[in-house]
Amino acid sequence: MTEPIIVWLRNDLRLSDNLALYQANKKGVPVLLLYVLDDEAAGTWRMGSTSRWWLHYSLESLKTDLQKLGSDVILRRGSTVDVIIEISRQLGVKEIYCSKQFEPWARELEQILHQKLEEYGITLNCCAGQLLHAPGKLCTKIGKSFQVYTPFLRALTATDIRIPKPAPSNLLKFTRLPQSDTLKDWCLIPIAPDWAGGMRKAWQPGETGAQKRLNSFLEKSAATYHINRDRPKQPYCTASTSKLSPHLHFGEITPAICWHAAKLKAAQDPTHSEGLEIFLKELAWREFSYHLIYHSTDLPAEPFRKRFVSFPWQPPSKVRSTQLKAWQQGKTGYPIIDAGLRELWTTGWMHNRVRMIAASFLTKHLLIPWQQGQDWFWDCLVDANLASNSASWQWVSGCGADAAPYFRIFNPVIQGQKFDADGTYVRFWVPEIAKIPNKYIHTPWLCPKHMLDMYNIKIGVTYPLPIVDHKQARDRALEAYQFLKSTTP
Ligand SMILES: Cc1cc2nc3c(=O)[nH]c(=O)nc-3n(C[C@H](O)[C@H](O)[C@H](O)COP(=O)(O)OP(=O)(O)OC[C@H]3O[C@@H](n4cnc5c(N)ncnc54)[C@H](O)[C@@H]3O)c2cc1C
Repeated sequence: MTEPIIVWLRNDLRLSDNLALYQANKKGVPVLLLYVLDDEAAGTWRMGSTSRWWLHYSLESLKTDLQKLGSDVILRRGSTVDVIIEISRQLGVKEIYCSKQFEPWARELEQILHQKLEEYGITLNCCAGQLLHAPGKLCTKIGKSFQVYTPFLRALTATDIRIPKPAPSNLLKFTRLPQSDTLKDWCLIPIAPDWAGGMRKAWQPGETGAQKRLNSFLEKSAATYHINRDRPKQPYCTASTSKLSPHLHFGEITPAICWHAAKLKAAQDPTHSEGLEIFLKELAWREFSYHLIYHSTDLPAEPFRKRFVSFPWQPPSKVRSTQLKAWQQGKTGYPIIDAGLRELWTTGWMHNRVRMIAASFLTKHLLIPWQQGQDWFWDCLVDANLASNSASWQWVSGCGADAAPYFRIFNPVIQGQKFDADGTYVRFWVPEIAKIPNKYIHTPWLCPKHMLDMYNIKIGVTYPLPIVDHKQARDRALEAYQFLKSTTP
């Protein structure tokens, strides 16, 4: 066969351990790499603004890497099916390779494409690689899907994790390149206003940035990961966690690469093994989220535990909109929550512990449906990922698989005092209260007036009073849960 092969790139924007590219390149024919920005296929879950920013730089980085091999990636915007068929017919392509993706809309697209291509006698080969295991493969002893994380983890760790494939050292040049858009045409990065300054400072999208992140984590943070992972830190300094999530999401690195690198490091240096053991369990949470969305395709919209369909959320009102806005803007009056939401807005990322506290506050203290928080995260996170985002929001809200019991309601003050004891994180993100002493940094409204005066802080003016009282809000949430329990089987 001498016809060229198309590698349809999706969330696999890398050269290393890219099975689709690896298999296609083994055929010894020219390979054409294609990325299609198809908002219509993704529907409601089209990429949010922050993900678009990431995509721009990730593709730019991939282009640079490919150009070093004498290749490039063709960019097209529109219907994936139409673009692929048009280019295949134009170039006489008979085979297409891609990485399998597991979001419900992506699976549907794959199926439609498969059928359409068949009509033209073109084969679509979907390769694994985005996950440690294809979600349909792991199941319980009686052949059912897992609903609980621990047995899922046991099953996952009992299987062999595939060895990553190397990046191609050369790609056969393709001479008749079809027309391509430019990244600039797609207007993915904000210009007026340019809100991405904090993100440029925080991230290096692309495969090189991903490798650097992994190496830096293994060298600097892995040994203490089990101790420090719950402590948010100032941005732009060595993180307590890997910060690999956006790189994993865009497929700039695979979980298999991370898995084997962590195993190797732990074997070479036993002082790292405890931290890395936990790190592997976190990678398994990502797998579990995909497992859930694979088996429950309505996960982003409907509660996993169906009784929560009739949960008495706060009905839409002006008060609810105002509270949602205060939460989004980091103006709830609870410093740890406000710090998290501001970190999210500025850098496109939020520390996991703070995500949990902020999500719990929205769904339990404010009784605002988890879908609204999920939507905000979707637009703001650089790692916005349909499986992890919906599974995590549901988990925190108490309606997800293996979820925290509903009655466990985080106290934002105690959480702040426990995980940001000296207030370093809060002081960075909430500078208007930075001068408040440690004792009151998580309860600025309790700080004596003479101190506040000294620092020119006016609670309720320069920094808000708590938008709800913790005890009252907790009681209201528990009442709502009791109502649900008493009205549903
Ligand atoms: C409300 C809420 C929403 C979330 N939304 C997302 C999302 O859209 N995208 C996303 O990738 N993660 C999401 N998470 C999970 C988690 O917060 C992030 O994966 C983690 O903070 C990423 O930082 P890290 O790479 O430094 O993680 P590390 O602690 O270094 O963990 C390593 C990797 O394991 C995976 N991981 C870790 N924790 C989880 C978890 N609880 N669930 C699933 N995977 C996990 C991630 O891929 C992460 O990169 C969400 C959590 C909550 C509570």
